[in-house]
Amino acid sequence: MHAAYERAGLPIGAHLDLTWRCPLRCKHCYVQRCDPQRGRSRFASGAACSERSRGAGGAATEASVAADPCEAELSTAQVFDLLEQMRSLQVLALAVSGGEIFVRKDLLRILERARELHFRLLLKTSGTVGSKALWKQVVAIHPGLVDISLYSHVPEIHDAVTGMGGSFRKSLATILMLQDAGITVDVVATLLRGYAEDPDALRSGLERLGVRSVHFNTVSDAMCEGKDVRGLFVDAEALARQVAAEALARRGAAKAPARRAATEGTAGAVPTARKTTDPVCSAGFNRFSVTPSGDVLPCVRIPEVAGNVLKTPLADVWWRSEVLNRYRSYRWGQLDQGRCVACPDSPHCPFCFGISLSDTGDPLKRSDEICRLAAATREAWERSSANDRPKLGPPPQAGPGTPPAKPRGGDKGGVDE
Ligand code: SF4
Ligand code: SF4
Repeated sequence: MHAAYERAGLPIGAHLDLTWRCPLRCKHCYVQRCDPQRGRSRFASGAACSERSRGAGGAATEASVAADPCEAELSTAQVFDLLEQMRSLQVLALAVSGGEIFVRKDLLRILERARELHFRLLLKTSGTVGSKALWKQVVAIHPGLVDISLYSHVPEIHDAVTGMGGSFRKSLATILMLQDAGITVDVVATLLRGYAEDPDALRSGLERLGVRSVHFNTVSDAMCEGKDVRGLFVDAEALARQVAAEALARRGAAKAPARRAATEGTAGAVPTARKTTDPVCSAGFNRFSVTPSGDVLPCVRIPEVAGNVLKTPLADVWWRSEVLNRYRSYRWGQLDQGRCVACPDSPHCPFCFGISLSDTGDPLKRSDEICRLAAATREAWERSSANDRPKLGPPPQAGPGTPPAKPRGGDKGGVDE
């Protein structure tokens, strides 16, 4: 299936952020909300907030301009239209994320429409919002996978990260309810210095509380909401242990939804020699991302706007935009002016355009944080016994099969989706 999509140049997956609104204020969240004072948004490629609220075309549309211009969101009808366009492009897997998707009053209608169109649905949520009745209706839709982020098995520590008292209790209750209802839930745990730093303690603590599936995410963006969050990065030892823990989790979940087999690069990287002609990751290659106001990006972590669905048909953006064509043309041989493909850590390297852009301003340049992730992955690999090593396979990020990446709340925290 992936090979067929690759041959046809079609997107197998899409990531749709329905809103940037969220009741949580996670310390490491990569979403940079449009700030009227600063007048800039990470996702506007420097465009002024007021310009951005009008969509890429510049013409304000009633439906696309929210009361707060920085929170412009596609209307229900516009989302429906986008879903149909995605279906026409033969997108199979759809990750619905934000922000917190449950703050949208029309979420259920959107999910029902997505199911009618036969997308395989991945929902990313904090699990802190939504009535029991609403969740019951979401369960009835039977999403393929729900991602919920936790930052500790200790409620006070988790709540200190999210900035919302009681958030751990709410998230855990949602996780257990979904599990009991037969929905596959991945808890995405993010280690943060000064909060939870021990992956094994975190996993066993959550398992004792009844959580069945724990994955790990890595915070890698230096800047979050204009703040430098490097102080939250765990040290090299904790990072290597996290990579090892995630590799085992992925191996254990191999039969589960085809979702973590590749991507965002962090954990579970498989040592495969890189060739100069290898694609780097799925960004614009066989996946794309759409922001709440309809901007199309190569990936949720790459703030380069390829077009806006309010102005240009999605298919035209996919086939014709300079941004997407450029990202899908990048190959390993171009990274860091040809030095990366010869790097001894390259077989373990989760190279990420998004991290490089965030850290260096150049998607093709090596970043210290990517190198640190690569070293931690090599370290975890070297320490593991032959039996514990992940099965050899295709490179984690190369081309098709790579799920949409999104760190945090599940996908916003690490070299993810
Ligand atoms: S998160 Fe990074 S590695 Fe993953 S698709 Fe986006 S740019 Fe590529
Ligand atoms: S570890 Fe650093 S230098 Fe080596 S391939 Fe990765 S980004 Fe390039």
